[in-house]
Amino acid sequence: MNFVTRPGRVGIMGGTFDPIHYGHLVTAEAARWEFALEKVIFVPSGRPPHKKDYPVTDAEYRYQMTLLATASNPYFEVSRCEIDREGFSYTVETVAEFRREYGPEVQLYFITGADAILEILTWKDVDRLLRECQFIAATRPGFHLNRLEESRPQLPVEGRHRIHLIEVPALAISSTDIRWRVKNKKPIKYLLPEAVEEYIRSRGLYRPRLDGVYEKG
Ligand code: ATP
Ligand code: MG
Repeated sequence: MNFVTRPGRVGIMGGTFDPIHYGHLVTAEAARWEFALEKVIFVPSGRPPHKKDYPVTDAEYRYQMTLLATASNPYFEVSRCEIDREGFSYTVETVAEFRREYGPEVQLYFITGADAILEILTWKDVDRLLRECQFIAATRPGFHLNRLEESRPQLPVEGRHRIHLIEVPALAISSTDIRWRVKNKKPIKYLLPEAVEEYIRSRGLYRPRLDGVYEKG
């Protein structure tokens, strides 16, 4: 455990968490430890604007799974802010909401996988975002850091140093793969916390219906 936590540094881990898995948890914990964060707040998305290609599971289920997965870590919290917001969720609004809640002094760190950061950096309000929060991007398998390094010169000069890279143990876990596994009756044990696995089973999440659409349970 890192005892050098610095009050005033808060991590935000956004995601669809459909379902949450050890890749998310390991990344959040690595960021917390390396940046001496006071806490990490997990923010399950409402209706994500970029995930329209499959029916995202009901937000309440994703929220419950996130609660179950984070319960044993006293530094982890879960926020309903995106779930309770109307319409699509945008990171810039979420960050602004935490800024209002915690005040001007707090340092916000938005934690993402390195693949997600590249997407974020193409958004139109990236300048504003980089003023409001710093980024911690975790490498995940199959991602080449030089792609990020190549895009760095295109960033606003004052924002460039506000993106930090960390390495997490190579976890080739993704929610897409877990959903595929459930649908195809393959094991998901050890890819995510047992309580989440049990929740998925008891609600019948990710099982196919005859018409090929995912069942909500
Ligand atoms: P999907 O396969 O549906 O895209 P996902 O596994 O990527 O799901 P998300 O909820 O989309 O999960 O991810 C939330 C955040 O966690 C993103 O910033 C993503 O880059 C990061 N992330 C996801 N899986 C991992 C992993 N195995 N290691 C590190 N970061 C991860
Ligand atoms: Mg993803």
